[in-house]
Amino acid sequence: MRASQSTAVHEAGHAVMAHLLHRGPVIRMGAVPSNERNGFTDFRHTRKDWLDPAVPLTRHGRQWLWDFTLIAIAGYLTQRDRYPETPEGSLGPDIRNAQALALRACENDEARAIAYVTKAAERLSLYTEQSIYWTLIDALAQALTKHGILTGSQVRDILVAATKSYSVKSGRLRQLG
Ligand SMILES: [Zn+2]
Repeated sequence: MRASQSTAVHEAGHAVMAHLLHRGPVIRMGAVPSNERNGFTDFRHTRKDWLDPAVPLTRHGRQWLWDFTLIAIAGYLTQRDRYPETPEGSLGPDIRNAQALALRACENDEARAIAYVTKAAERLSLYTEQSIYWTLIDALAQALTKHGILTGSQVRDILVAATKSYSVKSGRLRQLG
């Protein structure tokens, strides 16, 4: 089955954001339908489950929740940037994911959790307004559309190669915190 370009861009959003935040690793991703989803990006599980209320939240845990909130919303927001007609319904599993992360980070305070996700979307736009972001998205989405499924090491190789050719062309990368 031919992978949808729009889904490929969505999944690339998750993987590129994870790459830029040094999170992951991605172990497998695909732009082919699986388990009632259009695509998937699978990460290796961390040793600690920061969503588990029994696990005390450390500074590292808070950073993990924040980073993975960005990664969760990056799929839809990247897809919508490129394909403005993307229906909001496609946000389904991702927004549930982001909400769970935000509620955990905000001690189940719903109002704060909504503000947290809004803040994450604002932070995300600092990345999406840079051309390197789209260089990485296009490189990965193109490979994903072609192959349907990519392994974690293929994803890493594609992103490293795209970053290198971008740096050569543009001189330097702007650092984002
Ligand atoms: Zn997604």
